[in-house]
Amino acid sequence: MFKINTNYQKLPGSYLFSTIGKKVRAYQAEHPEKKVISLGIGDVTQPLAPAIIEELHRAVDEMAAAETFKGYAPDLGYEFLRTAVAQGDFASRGCDIQPDEIFVSDGAKCDCGNIQELFSLDNKIAVCDPVYPVYVDSNVMAGRTGVYDEKKGIWSDVIYMPCVAENHFAPELPKETPDLIYLCFPNNPTGSVITKSQLQEWVDYANRVGAVILYDAAYEAYISEDDVPHSIYECQGAQNCAIEFRSFSKNAGFTGVRLGYTVIPKALKCGDVSLHDMWDRRHGTKYNGAPYMIQKAGAAVYTEKGKAQLKQQIAYYKENAKIIYDGLKALGYTVSGGVNSPYVWLKIPGTMTSWEFFDHLLQNAGVVGTPGSGFGPSGEGYFRLTGFGTRKNTEEAVERIKKL
Ligand code: PLP
Repeated sequence: MFKINTNYQKLPGSYLFSTIGKKVRAYQAEHPEKKVISLGIGDVTQPLAPAIIEELHRAVDEMAAAETFKGYAPDLGYEFLRTAVAQGDFASRGCDIQPDEIFVSDGAKCDCGNIQELFSLDNKIAVCDPVYPVYVDSNVMAGRTGVYDEKKGIWSDVIYMPCVAENHFAPELPKETPDLIYLCFPNNPTGSVITKSQLQEWVDYANRVGAVILYDAAYEAYISEDDVPHSIYECQGAQNCAIEFRSFSKNAGFTGVRLGYTVIPKALKCGDVSLHDMWDRRHGTKYNGAPYMIQKAGAAVYTEKGKAQLKQQIAYYKENAKIIYDGLKALGYTVSGGVNSPYVWLKIPGTMTSWEFFDHLLQNAGVVGTPGSGFGPSGEGYFRLTGFGTRKNTEEAVERIKKL
């Protein structure tokens, strides 16, 4: 008789966004006449930029002719994309990352979830709290997180690093020493960032204690302040202790077409063993790369035309975030984020829990946001709103909240 991986049964409830989806569907079934505005789920709404579409069309046509047809993509990804990434995202910022240290993938979610396979089960993980749930959930599935305390919403073997108003939503070095440290900046959900000197402290710490930093820079394109690093490799010594995840989802609208990459420097080793070689081996077996056409489209992100078009899209989402931020602030709410990020983090007034506030907003304003508690225990009492909507919906959502 087969047996299942019982770690899956330890996961509390369903994934945050499935729960939200269920609640919204129930509301819509009860109120078919009402239009629900979603400022909740982190999906983009703008179509792919013309420069990307042109490249996609060209690549599709190439697949129709024997001379230009492409089959399996190389395991690490096509050289043309890895070279464009190494130049556009790293060399241009003074980071020494070579094309063959870049693994092209079908998005950051896969990579963030799968990376833990490289590490033994007795590694202790530390996470920002609140944060993107994939880091903890993928470690739960692997059996690395111990016992869940339903009341507190915490796992016994996870080091939670609170990111709260008192520390400006930036984690402090943990008291207990972790082996794997997940950092995400600009942060989902708080929209907070850390400066280059703060990140350098983390890199120094990881090198000192022998930990690996798993750095998620999915929202890098939203950074507008000069002292905020775009990549962890801007810090000295990061090549020896850090893996970085990037996504084409939020900077270029690839949420539906799927493209991302992970950087594992060759210098990152555990004794003699290269993590780069391990991930290479994994890609060879459990391939989660992207098709040729999508990689071609991804390369358009680095062209002058692509860059100019995407700058406008990002500015659009950031302006939406500003409309939410300013609108709520004017109403007397305490808000943060939204400057180097598409996310606005709202402190829920009064005593409502974040799920109660979710229901309140949905029932009374027809607006959907994301309850902070879904991102970790320190997210309780907070609510995430995103600038990823359309301008019209964003403005209307703020107007509806004004009338609450
Ligand atoms: N990392 C963070 C912090 C995210 O918020 C998300 C998506 O919302 C991802 C990664 C996933 O990115 P992708 O769409 O490339 O899988």
